[in-house]
Amino acid sequence: MLVSPKYNCQFCNAPPRFAPLKEMDALSILVFYCDICQAEYLYKDDTWELLTYSIYTAIDNKTYRWSMAGETAQLWFIREPGIPGVKKNKGLHSIQVFGKVTSQLITPIPDITPTNINDKLKIILTFQ
Ligand SMILES: [Zn+2]
Repeated sequence: MLVSPKYNCQFCNAPPRFAPLKEMDALSILVFYCDICQAEYLYKDDTWELLTYSIYTAIDNKTYRWSMAGETAQLWFIREPGIPGVKKNKGLHSIQVFGKVTSQLITPIPDITPTNINDKLKIILTFQ
């Protein structure tokens, strides 16, 4: 689960901007957002451990979030998308979990990037 701090966006290598949210501040979590990739990075504020990263996208005017945390990935539908650094997401609905849950491999994690996310999600959503 422990990942060394990585400050640049892992997809485009540009530095993501600090996009703090008060709800995350309360949990001692730092939020960074890459506008190029629509990728969000959450770090523990004392150790700079990468807790999770997410890629956002829209398909048919619906917002989805692909989130990776350790060996688990989760696809979410977001009814009321937030604004990075301004307000948090609301109305999150889990669509599917991939990878390991309590060390049991459920489903292999597809390699999803900002470039291929729409194509991959369309396939996943077809089977929901
Ligand atoms: Zn990026």
